[in-house]
Amino acid sequence: MGCVIAGGGPAGVMLALLLARSGVEVTLLEKHGDFLRDFRGDTIHPSTIQVLDELGLAQEFLRLPHRKAYQLSLVTDRGEVRLASLRRLRGAYNYIAFVPQWDFLNLLTSAAGRYPGFRMVLNAEAYDLIREDGAVRGLRYRDASGEHEIRADLTVAADGRHSVLRERAGLRPENLGAPMDVVWFRLPRESGDRDDTFLRIAPGRIMVAINRESYWQLAFVILKGGYDEMTARGIDALRRPVSELMPWMADRVAGIESYDDVSVLTVALDRLRRWHRPGFLCIGDAAHAMSPVFGVGINLAVQDAVATANLLAGPLRSGAPIPESALHRLQRRRMPPTRLTQAAQRLVQDRVISPALTRSLDPSRLPPDLTKIPLLNRLTAGFIGHGVRPEHVAVREV
Ligand SMILES: Cc1cc2nc3c(=O)[nH]c(=O)nc-3n(C[C@H](O)[C@H](O)[C@H](O)COP(=O)(O)OP(=O)(O)OC[C@H]3O[C@@H](n4cnc5c(N)ncnc54)[C@H](O)[C@@H]3O)c2cc1C
Repeated sequence: MGCVIAGGGPAGVMLALLLARSGVEVTLLEKHGDFLRDFRGDTIHPSTIQVLDELGLAQEFLRLPHRKAYQLSLVTDRGEVRLASLRRLRGAYNYIAFVPQWDFLNLLTSAAGRYPGFRMVLNAEAYDLIREDGAVRGLRYRDASGEHEIRADLTVAADGRHSVLRERAGLRPENLGAPMDVVWFRLPRESGDRDDTFLRIAPGRIMVAINRESYWQLAFVILKGGYDEMTARGIDALRRPVSELMPWMADRVAGIESYDDVSVLTVALDRLRRWHRPGFLCIGDAAHAMSPVFGVGINLAVQDAVATANLLAGPLRSGAPIPESALHRLQRRRMPPTRLTQAAQRLVQDRVISPALTRSLDPSRLPPDLTKIPLLNRLTAGFIGHGVRPEHVAVREV
């Protein structure tokens, strides 16, 4: 019966690939019809590129249109500071690759499609669990043709921060708090624009600009729940601060004609105390929603998938029942990196983002150029690039 996974984000797609590659029957359900949604992160960190390398996919990945970021910069009213340089990072990859997430997910699903055990169903929304004898034995989903059941030895919820299956399993995350939401929109790039992706911060305002070659993908950070008030003030409530933060873009902001041109992304930071039930496991944002701080959520989701495959591919392939203790081992392995990463995200949210958005940030408390302190740079770059407890593919291709 193998494994059924709800959710075709980084966690679900990577797990499906790893299991199919190791000879497990796996069905991946994704409620949308494609991966072409623009509300996902773009940052593929060295830990994930290393996993792709171990799967023999790094060269194919690096042929996708991408930009490499070797350092992270913060632009303030006083000038620019470098927060981390990844150039001296251990390992073969010392940069963050900015790749539209749909390209990354398409690459993984087409790699998974080379294995006979892989099946993907798009436009398929999981809505309930099948329970028998005190254990989860699969799930129910609906698509255009009606309602269906899939039975499985292991049912994985990789359906993101609003996980329906997690809720159906009676698991509730503990909210750790996020002070912000993100307004997401595009403006054209022009010759002569700077080349990198950067963070711009000023009293009351924070913005991230991602270079996507022909356009800037922009993330304007607002206080949580502030979007309605912003829209009530009209489109100038967005255009004006963008022009003030980046005067070199002022001539382009008229391109944001109305709030129809933008979307609001709600930010959450939470985690489950318990990630499993008999026959059922949550991974990725379904187990721990990540804030965009450090751009590590995709990478943590991928690490969860690698650890899950390493621990469970063998038992799944053999068809032996999966004891709940094996699921708990996975939770024990992945909980410390989750806690530490979320603690660091909270620190930045509390010490920088909240005070900046409420205009109480003392600019002298912003970090100096951290790359000038080699030990600190090594720690920061390692934390961002490799994460805490990086996972390596340990299951063989069958
Ligand atoms: C504003 C914002 C910006 C971010 N930027 C970054 C960034 O730059 N870099 C980074 O690394 N992280 C970023 N993150 C965090 C990152 O998006 C997540 O941590 C990461 O996507 C988690 O991956 P996942 O596979 O667990 O879940 P998701 O990416 O949320 O994927 C879940 C998938 O499940 C599908 N799904 C949902 N419900 C069902 C259902 N019932 N049935 C079937 N399918 C279902 C969804 O359509 C989706 O495809 C950001 C987060 C936010 C809020």
